[in-house]
Amino acid sequence: MPATILDGNKIASEIRAEAAAAVKSMSATGLRPGLAVVLAGNNPASEVYVRGKVKSCEEVGIYSEKHTPSDKVTTDELLALVADLNRRDEIDGILVQLPLPPQVDSKKVLLAVSPQKDVDGFHPVNVGNLSTQRPGLVPCTPAGVIEILRRSNIPIEGRNAVVIGRSDIVGKPVAMLLLNNNATVTVCHSKTKNIAQIAQQADILVAAIGKAGFVTEDFIKPGAAVIDVGINKVTDRSEFERFFSGDPAREKSFAEKGSTLVGDVDPHVAAVAGAITPVPGGVGPLTIAMLMANTVKACRMRRGPERQARS
Ligand code: NAP
Repeated sequence: MPATILDGNKIASEIRAEAAAAVKSMSATGLRPGLAVVLAGNNPASEVYVRGKVKSCEEVGIYSEKHTPSDKVTTDELLALVADLNRRDEIDGILVQLPLPPQVDSKKVLLAVSPQKDVDGFHPVNVGNLSTQRPGLVPCTPAGVIEILRRSNIPIEGRNAVVIGRSDIVGKPVAMLLLNNNATVTVCHSKTKNIAQIAQQADILVAAIGKAGFVTEDFIKPGAAVIDVGINKVTDRSEFERFFSGDPAREKSFAEKGSTLVGDVDPHVAAVAGAITPVPGGVGPLTIAMLMANTVKACRMRRGPERQARS
């Protein structure tokens, strides 16, 4: 039986609707969540991402503002901007879009963001909160992976989970979240031997590698849930055919655009898996939805009832 396709667009729209309802009721008490996005320089991909984030804020009712320092901006100038955003009470979330221009010390800038406003969840304080199961802000894409599993009624507790990839922004936090949800977790990376054999033990397999179609059918335990975080652009005809030959919809869009997107999982895996996220339309839409949820959460934790309950 072919895998159930886990519809990320549908799940993301549920999460956005929940965030919108929360913003509405918070705004009625005079508390409107606010997000500041910092977009330095002229990176076209970053501009597209930031546009999507600002648009999503408008839809959900979150106040947003965009800061666009030039590509000549210095580390000190960005630190001053972040310090100002940290000070402003109506700003609950600060998102510094990466990559920053090469002359900027990115780590220093990210470290300057107040952990209470760190809606990306990258600050070491939030990394520590996650690993010690304290309340805090969790990175958006990994949080989205868990939401897909949870809202698709895929149990995590007691299952074997394998995560391929150990980056600070995806692999490690996904592994920590799965562990916190009582899965037995194995993390694989570029030095891991016999990855396919390890992956075959997975009831839940998460791929976050950045290599088109790396995970093939022989990696998959029949019936496993496969979450594909990867986003890779395919422009080469023979690579396209390896993944999508016989798929008329993809053929049409490839012919029109000269490219298509594929995840880190070969689409043929759908013949063996029990459930799988598509690319596009799987994990991708969750990232912005979780940013909205995180901004609402940051507002509640710093200015809302949850703060009063703690004090
Ligand atoms: P990354 O920082 O480049 O990390 C890639 C990880 O994969 C590393 O841990 C690396 O191992 C591992 N890896 C590379 N080659 C491997 C191999 N041959 N075998 C096993 N492991 C291997 O990438 P990332 O930022 O985590 O992103 C991963 C993918 O997710 C990318 O396609 C990215 O575009 C996508 N992504 C999607 C979203 C979304 O919204 N859907 C968000 C973020 C990222 P080492 O540590 O040993 O080098």
